[in-house]
Amino acid sequence: MISANRVVLVINSGSSSLKFELVEPDAGVSRATGSIEQIGEASSSVANHDAALHRAFDKLAEDGIDLQTCGLVAVGHRVVHGGNEFHQPTLLDDAVIGKLEELSALAPLHNPPAVLGIRVARKLLPDVPHVAVFDTAFFHDLPPAAATYAIDREVADSWQIRRYGFHGTSHQYVSEQAAAFLDRPPSGLNQIVLHLGNGASASAIARGCPVETSMGLTPMEGLVMGTRSGDVDPGVISYLWRTAKMGVDEIESMLNHRSGVLGLAGERDFRRLRTMIEIGDRPAQLAYSVFIHRLRKYIGAYLAVLGHTDVVSFTAGIGENDAAVRRDALAGMAELGIELDEDRNVGPATGARRISTDGSAVAVLVVPTNEELAIARDCLSVL
Ligand code: ADP
Repeated sequence: MISANRVVLVINSGSSSLKFELVEPDAGVSRATGSIEQIGEASSSVANHDAALHRAFDKLAEDGIDLQTCGLVAVGHRVVHGGNEFHQPTLLDDAVIGKLEELSALAPLHNPPAVLGIRVARKLLPDVPHVAVFDTAFFHDLPPAAATYAIDREVADSWQIRRYGFHGTSHQYVSEQAAAFLDRPPSGLNQIVLHLGNGASASAIARGCPVETSMGLTPMEGLVMGTRSGDVDPGVISYLWRTAKMGVDEIESMLNHRSGVLGLAGERDFRRLRTMIEIGDRPAQLAYSVFIHRLRKYIGAYLAVLGHTDVVSFTAGIGENDAAVRRDALAGMAELGIELDEDRNVGPATGARRISTDGSAVAVLVVPTNEELAIARDCLSVL
């Protein structure tokens, strides 16, 4: 059966996982979704990204979806780093892919698997346009004061060192949804968005334009995350290199994969972390308080950057589901205009909702993110 609705296949290709979703962007609905994990791992039956994408297509076929006849108009690829050059959804051809490969130096953990996913998908689906959507795009025009590191200017210019920001697709989508929920145009609101998932980032958005975000050259800066440290004194890195004799890859791997909540508590999932806290596990309690302290520090900073804030939105796995994190992040901020309603905060998670009191000067919302839908809509914008 030929489907009348336009369909976009969204692919998020990581080093060991490939997530996919078939989206109808016009209706805003998901037709199918899935993920292939443990790609290339010794114990896994999925040897590489090629095999993973074949497996994804098999899964779609099991759901009765034929990509040839389902109305597929584009394949959207999430690409983490767009560097200075890519700040719009971009139609992929060999030249663009070559440039993305050059950008891999800026994002060695994230861009190479995305490029791999793009190559495999173009081979398997050669007749539809493939579009790259960049996690950095939304923050491309951060004000220079927020985008610039105060380091030697020549060095920064030679090596394209600036604050790029990430999770942009989510920050943009959530800020637009928050505005729609409040029945106001994004241009009429000052917003703080807190994207709290395994990766975590915050942004300040003034009248629709991002003016600050917590991630920088790479997605390691800023908030404490599941396995990433967030902010550390750069002196830590030279100290570990010089004195502890750790290599640069070892240090990077530690800061990315064995730090954050996992590094402090031995657990990164907030559901299990909560159970550990309840039974008095001290490292879990410390990890949680470091996470909350950093988050509050950023909220305070962004309230100051914006001067006037209309809305604070929580999103992603932790932000959407963990009422205690939301409570602790905003506790004692009544004098800053933020008052959470305890009952609304623990209420059922259905769509976008308000969790502040009616009298709170700043509206506090929970807004489910949907990066796949946003990517699919971005794809249509370039077709
Ligand atoms: P990713 O960055 O991988 O997209 P998600 O946004 O899916 O991450 O967030 C994943 C995290 O959300 C989990 O590791 C877990 O810590 C947290 N999470 C998910 N569901 C809940 C829940 N019901 N309560 C608390 N935390 C949750």
